[in-house]
Amino acid sequence: MICLLFSANWSRPCKAFIPQLVQAYNALKDTGQELEVIFVSFDRDENGFNEHFKSMPWLVVPFNVNLQKILGNLYKVNQIPSFIPLGIDTKMLAKDAVGLIKDYGADAFPFTKKRQEELKAIDEAKRQGGKLDELFNGIKNTFDVEVHPSVLVGKTIGLYFGAHWCPPCRDFTVQLVEAYSDIINDKNQEFEVVFISTDRDHKEFDLSVTKMPWLAVPFDDKSRQDLCRIFEVKWIPSLILLGPDGRTISTNGRAMISLYGARGFPFTEPKILEIEASLMKEGHGLPPQVMDCKHEHILKLEMPKAFICDFCKKRGTFWAFSCDVCGYDLHPSENENLEVMREMTTFNCAMAKFLPKQDRAPTPKGT
Ligand SMILES: [Zn+2]
Ligand SMILES: [Zn+2]
Repeated sequence: MICLLFSANWSRPCKAFIPQLVQAYNALKDTGQELEVIFVSFDRDENGFNEHFKSMPWLVVPFNVNLQKILGNLYKVNQIPSFIPLGIDTKMLAKDAVGLIKDYGADAFPFTKKRQEELKAIDEAKRQGGKLDELFNGIKNTFDVEVHPSVLVGKTIGLYFGAHWCPPCRDFTVQLVEAYSDIINDKNQEFEVVFISTDRDHKEFDLSVTKMPWLAVPFDDKSRQDLCRIFEVKWIPSLILLGPDGRTISTNGRAMISLYGARGFPFTEPKILEIEASLMKEGHGLPPQVMDCKHEHILKLEMPKAFICDFCKKRGTFWAFSCDVCGYDLHPSENENLEVMREMTTFNCAMAKFLPKQDRAPTPKGT
């Protein structure tokens, strides 16, 4: 199989792609695949061309601006890098395979639509009730000791995607550590977390795992990228919860941990419904809105949410008294009630005289 590679030294995406392609190319050559790549330069001058070709172990057509144009038009190249697999008749066998090679490396061969569908089906099978040994090449504990994936069997698993450079990840790690130790130590439940780092280098990875009491996919292990792809992780922090059968319970474990902590374990739908029902009950004892001497606006009861209390500056979950006007949040337990407003009526409290006029007689808003 002949593939044309359209690329240029001045392009950062090209420079990032070439090492990935070299790796896939070498792996395919090693397994005896009949593959050759021909580099067609989109460089502006011969120096750039020579510089770029240095990083490539395959063939090249000599630097020629006219040939660039002809081949570029013939294969409708509208961006670089572009990797076009050709059939024996030199017609395009499949569309640009750059994305496929970035995702799957050598496994992408022979780059056809059929192969792409096969690979997607394999990912889907892993996502839906994956066997754990197929998900991980290796996992280690935070003392850098290798652990066999069988330690995960029978447990609820959290796949935690995060990085040290991301402040929300660092905050979430603290919440997850708290929930994790409650679940494992206090409740003695079968729960494990595996950290899948999207750190930029080994140093950052080491900083990430020092804060973590659970397992991690080693930084050098390629399955980190595979897991991001398989579980379609689009942002971090992200926590994917898998049940003991390997099936995905939730792709939004982050919200579950933030809201319910250890109380949410094992995070199944019936469990969450149960928690929400009991929270509803707790909320029934609270007034729908209050005035509080610490804040100048009416505070309304809201649920469920995770919030930072503006009075004690600590995290709160479930019920909060919240201000529609400025976003102030208050733990219900810290409410120093001036006037409980079970009904939306004109209130009368010591604060009223300090309020702006429009706030003194709020207009009823439904029931
Ligand atoms: Zn508070
Ligand atoms: Zn306010």
